[in-house]
Amino acid sequence: MKKHEMEAVLFCSNCDHETPHKIVYINDQIAQIECQQCHHAIDLEIDVVKEFYKELYKKISTKPARITNEYRQDLSIFLRKLPFRVISKPYRVMKELNESRKIIEQYRQKYDDSK
Ligand SMILES: [Zn+2]
Repeated sequence: MKKHEMEAVLFCSNCDHETPHKIVYINDQIAQIECQQCHHAIDLEIDVVKEFYKELYKKISTKPARITNEYRQDLSIFLRKLPFRVISKPYRVMKELNESRKIIEQYRQKYDDSK
């Protein structure tokens, strides 16, 4: 799971003219758009957990077809078996899982605060 930022000139309804905006992406989805002049921000709700599983699935689906078929057959059994299956590259996967978890937590906290 990746978080990145982009700059773009967009129309700000608060400033009432075009201003530089900071766009925050989580994976390829826009999470937030913030006007750099007045700091008026728009948050877009992303299902971060769904994003995470989508990404995990993508990673897994590049593994042998046998695993993919099992995944289709029974998701819960597959997920229980998963930690043993990915043991050939545990460090990379664990690092990515931890990073993803961090992003999910940050994102959720932000949402809870704004409620
Ligand atoms: Zn503005």
